[in-house]
Amino acid sequence: MPEMISLEEARELVLSRVSALESETVPLLDAAGRVAAADLASDIDVSPFAHSAMDGFAVKSASLAGASADFPVELDVIFEVPAGVAYEGDAADGQCVRIMTGAPLPECFDAVVKYEIVGVVSGDGRTGSRVSFTSPAAVGDNIRAAGEEAKAGETIITAGEPIGTAGIGFIAGCGILEVPVYSRPKVAIISIGSELVEPSVKPAPAQIRNSNSYALAACARAAGCIPEILPIVADDEAELSTAVLAATEGHDFVITSGGASNGDFDFIKKIVEEQGDLLMTTVNMRPGKAQTFGIVNDTPVFGLPGNPAAAYMGFELIIRPALRKMQGYSCFEHPMVKARLTCDRKKKDPRRLFMRSTLTKGADGELEVTPAKNQSSGLFGVIQKTNCMAILPEGEVSAKAGDILDCVLLDVPEEVVL
Ligand code: AMP
Ligand code: MG
Repeated sequence: MPEMISLEEARELVLSRVSALESETVPLLDAAGRVAAADLASDIDVSPFAHSAMDGFAVKSASLAGASADFPVELDVIFEVPAGVAYEGDAADGQCVRIMTGAPLPECFDAVVKYEIVGVVSGDGRTGSRVSFTSPAAVGDNIRAAGEEAKAGETIITAGEPIGTAGIGFIAGCGILEVPVYSRPKVAIISIGSELVEPSVKPAPAQIRNSNSYALAACARAAGCIPEILPIVADDEAELSTAVLAATEGHDFVITSGGASNGDFDFIKKIVEEQGDLLMTTVNMRPGKAQTFGIVNDTPVFGLPGNPAAAYMGFELIIRPALRKMQGYSCFEHPMVKARLTCDRKKKDPRRLFMRSTLTKGADGELEVTPAKNQSSGLFGVIQKTNCMAILPEGEVSAKAGDILDCVLLDVPEEVVL
């Protein structure tokens, strides 16, 4: 196992060890934000009939040929077709029907002219009236064809397609109320550290509140998973070993935080190695060098560092892609933008540096990026208050004000194209 691997290698390694979970069938509304696990097809044409896209008059376009302001064409209104009613009669030349949006287009007509441009010659514009047209209509004007949304039997959603809110309407229109989707991973979250107490407790001297478990559970939920926060585990090898093994039962992915580096009480690497296959320990990134990954009891186990920003970055950059793959997603990269750095920055070590930063629009309309003053890996608040991670690549790199940096938008979904 190589000592330190790149972020890309780490992501590939973890992705290669997970696959899409079993599918489950959920009620239509619950399918929003999930990935289809099978092709879906409509049982009918949607819509099943050609219909009017406007409130107006259905006409034979041929009868309006040559209509103009100087030579209007007058037609008799022989019927009214509201939505939900079909007119199955015929019409002679010189006749039209009044029609509402969504009403089936009678077979004898081939165009709809909207109310606003039709004059009333006699009557009130309804059945029995005479109306006038001052311009021709083309075949198909203001008509929505049958099957425009979907054809009977045709695939409307493909397996692997993420289902959005509009997709729910699309599927409903096709009469499908139960949708096969990939299951959500059940994710166990264990914070490790003898100094940790629950957030509900006022810490005694030398204690701190466990904030990572909550952030990681929120991250897991935002990634589409079902998180379970398990009890804090002290820096005790036997206790941790028992907790990790127990978590692999009944969870699809186990995440720990803390105890992941080389301190006297850092046991997660040792436990993964002894209980299963240790596949990675260190990634060339900052914050978050110590990232442990392996398989225990056929379950992926990921040991994040304890420092909050380091744990957060490990989750977002390495774990999240894997949790998405388990739900059937195939897009794993958050969008990146390029922005002009507003100040000089120097790196402390050669690892790839993710600077918690704020993107704004400069006076010239171009994006500018300003790294937060405090880049400590111990802080969540700085991530909360910023909106991107500006990247300084590996090596002895320093950057000057005006340099263009890549910035990754961790809050923007992977599917978004900028
Ligand atoms: P470790 O990775 O265990 O060496 O922890 C690094 C730093 O992160 C220490 O200052 C820990 O106190 C802190 N830390 C570890 N776990 C948590 C946690 N669950 N919540 C907040 N801070 C933590
Ligand atoms: Mg610790």
